[in-house]
Amino acid sequence: MRRVQVAIVGAGPAGLLLAHLLRRAGVEAVVLEARSRAYLETSPHRIRAGVLEWGTKEIALRAGVGERMLQEGLEHRGVYLAFHGEALHLDFLALSGKTIWVYGQQYLVRDMIRHHLEAGGEILFEHEVVGLEGLEEAPVLLYRTPEGREGRLASEFVVGADGSHSLARQHLPGARVQQKTYPFAWLGILAETPPAAEELIYASHPRGFALFSMRSPTLSRNYLQVRPDEKLEAWPEERIWEELNWRLEGVAEVKPGPLLEKSLTPMRSLVVEPMQYGRFFLVGDAAHVVPPTGAKGMNLAFCDVAVLCRALLAYYQEGDSSLLNRYTQDALRHVWQAELFSYWMTTLLHTLEDPFEEALRQAKLRHLRESPHLQRFLAENYVGLYTSGRYADTLLHV
Ligand SMILES: Cc1cc2nc3c(=O)[nH]c(=O)nc-3n(C[C@H](O)[C@H](O)[C@H](O)COP(=O)(O)OP(=O)(O)OC[C@H]3O[C@@H](n4cnc5c(N)ncnc54)[C@H](O)[C@@H]3O)c2cc1C
Repeated sequence: MRRVQVAIVGAGPAGLLLAHLLRRAGVEAVVLEARSRAYLETSPHRIRAGVLEWGTKEIALRAGVGERMLQEGLEHRGVYLAFHGEALHLDFLALSGKTIWVYGQQYLVRDMIRHHLEAGGEILFEHEVVGLEGLEEAPVLLYRTPEGREGRLASEFVVGADGSHSLARQHLPGARVQQKTYPFAWLGILAETPPAAEELIYASHPRGFALFSMRSPTLSRNYLQVRPDEKLEAWPEERIWEELNWRLEGVAEVKPGPLLEKSLTPMRSLVVEPMQYGRFFLVGDAAHVVPPTGAKGMNLAFCDVAVLCRALLAYYQEGDSSLLNRYTQDALRHVWQAELFSYWMTTLLHTLEDPFEEALRQAKLRHLRESPHLQRFLAENYVGLYTSGRYADTLLHV
């Protein structure tokens, strides 16, 4: 049986970044990915996150995978919050000293795959991991090849980076899963039409929340709050455009354009504790899920990887396992901060059915309009609170 230093399950943003950082430092890492390279890079089902915190952009640049992001991505210095018929501009640069970067997750995945393979890295596409064994002392991954054969890969460490429906997570003994579901979902579209504004608009309307974002100056990514049991068939194109414009009333106008993708995303929060066992670690959505309102999912994946990579390099380069032992403790700081912010944004902006809770929500919106402190709280969290201040060195060492 082949034996490697680090085996990684999943070639999403988390698995790819970790593999690339380890390889750059001379640690052998093999990634096993269930899907094909073409699926990851081009499938409309993989159009996901698009907002990079200031720190995520920095990590991508320092890891040597960010030059295309700089050329083709869009720097934004703030967002709009539209409510009560007006738009409040939050200037992140003025409020927090930092900006964000808009660049599609699928593009970043494509860039990381290319850089990693060109650097001699190994990604086994269409190799689905079907079992994990010996995680305490001598891990072995069981996988299925594209031809349907079964194989085994031994490693010194295993990292589960296999996303929100993680198989790896189920193999973590003693894991405690804390979760919350929300009484709404997001209907998302990708359309060939210029975005409604140059920056993102978060619109809280009595008919429901809507988010107007973009992937480029000609590609819009828009979302509508819908019921959790909503059916896609109930939303023909004309209804979507009409509803988007209702919810943007008085603030801007969206021009209809050809739809490239339409999907429903349930909203939930989830945290797995601990994020490790023996020689086994979880990163990214495998360890935690956030509702997308705060745009934190991919950013959190990068933060986990930065913390775990530092710990693995301390082990391989200095024989020091103390950072590995405290991986969960270190990672949970940014995880819970992002969970808090995602929950806060979600409950602030979505229309609620309970009249008492809805009245409180309106009071919170008014408070936000009046309070520079609350605006600063939002800005600091949106650009990535944990990559500022005392904790920054843990993340920006790469
Ligand atoms: C449908 C959807 C829509 C989203 N939309 C947004 C959004 O609009 N805005 C936002 O901020 N965030 C969004 N997110 C969140 C964000 O995309 C995630 O947080 C981010 O993808 C996390 O990266 P990851 O590497 O941890 O996991 P993933 O990107 O999910 O990558 C996991 C990888 O593991 C592979 N894999 C899974 N099981 C196995 C197995 N058994 N063997 C081998 N490989 C396996 C998968 O094929 C996948 O490539 C969305 C997430 C989803 C699922």
